[in-house]
Amino acid sequence: MRFEVSKVLDAIEARLTTDPALARAVVDLAEVVRYADLDGGRPASLVRLGLLVDALGRYVSEENVPVYVVTPHGLLSDTDLTSNERMVVRRWADDGKVEVVPQVEDRVLEVAEMLGLPVLTRDREDRFRASRPWVAEPGRLLALVSAQGGPTLVARVGRGEATPPVPRSPLGERLLARVWRCPSLSCNSYGDGGDSDSPFADMRTYTSPVSQPPPALRAGAPTCPRHGERLKDVGPRPATEVFSVRIDGVIRQRFVVSEDRATVVGRAPEGGSGVMLGQWLTDDARKWISRGHVQFTLRGGQVTVTDISMNGSGVRPGGSMDDGARITLRRDESRVLAEDDIVELYHAVLIGRSRLWASGGNVQPESVMGEAPTMAFRPVGR
Ligand SMILES: [Zn+2]
Repeated sequence: MRFEVSKVLDAIEARLTTDPALARAVVDLAEVVRYADLDGGRPASLVRLGLLVDALGRYVSEENVPVYVVTPHGLLSDTDLTSNERMVVRRWADDGKVEVVPQVEDRVLEVAEMLGLPVLTRDREDRFRASRPWVAEPGRLLALVSAQGGPTLVARVGRGEATPPVPRSPLGERLLARVWRCPSLSCNSYGDGGDSDSPFADMRTYTSPVSQPPPALRAGAPTCPRHGERLKDVGPRPATEVFSVRIDGVIRQRFVVSEDRATVVGRAPEGGSGVMLGQWLTDDARKWISRGHVQFTLRGGQVTVTDISMNGSGVRPGGSMDDGARITLRRDESRVLAEDDIVELYHAVLIGRSRLWASGGNVQPESVMGEAPTMAFRPVGR
């Protein structure tokens, strides 16, 4: 393929997460890389994950939608992938961007059940129907199929009717309320960053306790999905709330506000952390919005917004667009947000809890395939 594969893989990497608060669907990487019918190419190709990520974005009409990828260990040495692709998957595994398991078995379904997410698969998962009857419900399994305009996700069961959001399972809620520790020293999902005196302490990527993936349940005990070792409960997990940034009617990104630290949103928050909006703003909005504009904190179940900008911001109670109801926040002023309050940084630059907006507002979100010519992915036989 002539387009630059490494750029596509970088773009895909930005959409990988095992964070329970941000993931929007679960997928078995070993299955997706073998969808050769999508491009008529090699038996396995990592680039096909990009087609799936794009299709998921279109399915929810939202930008920057992340996916939870589970990969069997064997894929890391599968010679149907190029050596470069194998290297990339290994790096994703080492950095905790994807979850590596000895065998996938029903791990994808387990994660989907605990998090209340759809599974992206062509399999009907009939062999797990007894233990996980929800696989037969409409909209829970979405299959990637060729279609005019690019590969598309279609519900495996039902006629594609709108299905209500699925909550996390009670077991998922219970397990995700705790922080877990894996006895394996090399565990980046349930590790503690190791010995900080070690010269290698900073060389590994550890998942923050707030975003630890859901443990596997094996023989009734919380278990590390990668190492198979019994996990130790090391205390309560900080609470989180998920917010969306909506600019000119389009949801650009979701972000997590957690109890353990404040989150800054602005044009380009200092220090590289925080939520950066600059790339999505009009020139006027860019002039108005400060580098760090508002800060969100979560305490005792309440989210507080504090203005830290030059020009101020506003709160729209209950999402009301009535200017008479708008509450102005000047620098250093703060306000506890009600469930459906919306924070306004500038006209049409809004932040609110993600559940307030059912649709992402963009039927053709930006592709991770970048320069990949659409011709390269013309469905076979058309
Ligand atoms: Zn582990």
